[in-house]
Amino acid sequence: MSEPRPIAPSDQTTAAFWEATSKQELTLQKCSACGHVQHYPRGFCISCGQTHLETLQASGFGRIVSFTIVHRAPHPAFQPPYAVALVELREGPVVLTNIVGCDPDEIACDQSVQVTWEDLPDGRKLPLFTLERN
Ligand SMILES: [Zn+2]
Repeated sequence: MSEPRPIAPSDQTTAAFWEATSKQELTLQKCSACGHVQHYPRGFCISCGQTHLETLQASGFGRIVSFTIVHRAPHPAFQPPYAVALVELREGPVVLTNIVGCDPDEIACDQSVQVTWEDLPDGRKLPLFTLERN
C-alpha cells in the first residue's frame, strides 16, 4: 500500500481491543447480563443496554456471508482490485473486513476464513481475513 489506511485512533472504549491486537489476539465483548457477543467494541451491550461487558477471546475463524470486489478504490491506501466482505465469526458477530492473501476470483460465499494481521504504522495490528487453508 502506498499510503496508510485511514484507521480511527484508539480511545477509551477501544483501547483494550487494540492492545490485544498488538499480540495478534482478536477479542470480542460478551455481555455479563444477557450473554450477547458483539464486535466492534462499545461502551454498552447493543442487545440489552447493560454496561458490564467481559472480554472474550475469539477463535479467529469464520465464514464469508457476503462480499464484493472493489475495482475503483476510494482512498490511495487501497490498491484495487480487493475484496470487502461480511464475515460471520464462529462466536456470532458479523464483521466488515477485507479478504486478503488470495486472488479475488477465489472468493465465494460460505467459504471458511481465518484471521490474519496487517501491521499499522503506530504498532497496532488490523485484523483481516484470509481463506482457511487445510
Ligand atoms: Zn446484554
